[in-house]
Amino acid sequence: MSDSRFAPLPDGAAMPGNKQVRSPSVGFVRWWRGAWACLGALWTLPNTLAGSLLGLLFLLLGARVRWRGDLWAWVFEGVPWRGPGGAITFGNTVLCTLPSLDTTCRTYAHRAGQCIEPPVSLALHERAHVLQYMALGPFFLPAYLLCGGVSVRNVFERAADRYAREQRGWWPFAAPFP
Ligand SMILES: [Zn+2]
Repeated sequence: MSDSRFAPLPDGAAMPGNKQVRSPSVGFVRWWRGAWACLGALWTLPNTLAGSLLGLLFLLLGARVRWRGDLWAWVFEGVPWRGPGGAITFGNTVLCTLPSLDTTCRTYAHRAGQCIEPPVSLALHERAHVLQYMALGPFFLPAYLLCGGVSVRNVFERAADRYAREQRGWWPFAAPFP
């Protein structure tokens, strides 16, 4: 026997009075993600400060900046850099030489001639680096350089390409991250 007053409501169903109910697990996941993001941002703050200083200099030279909540990063676009074009991430900042980060790029494996892959989202590639920075904090740059720097051999770059392609797998090693 069931009593309709206590019948479980599906997630997000409307309650009398138009109030929405959320499953406690959804609330916990959001809380956990928010806590992880805050701790990660604090952990990688020295990198973010370095990137922000560089970004501020480029602002004076014509770059633009905007906050991208989907990337958890301040994105500087139109950075007037004469070296190889593209984007570079420092903590929660991304410096992009292109007019917009919302474009595609070739994967490292494709550029190295190891395989033929379709272009991937540059913004998602950099989002993976933001997540890597938030996980490793001040150890990210030394680890990145030890793994080969800007190279197809670098597991951080391969993971960022995988994340841009599949929206998962930003962490280049086994546990603890999915
Ligand atoms: Zn990269």
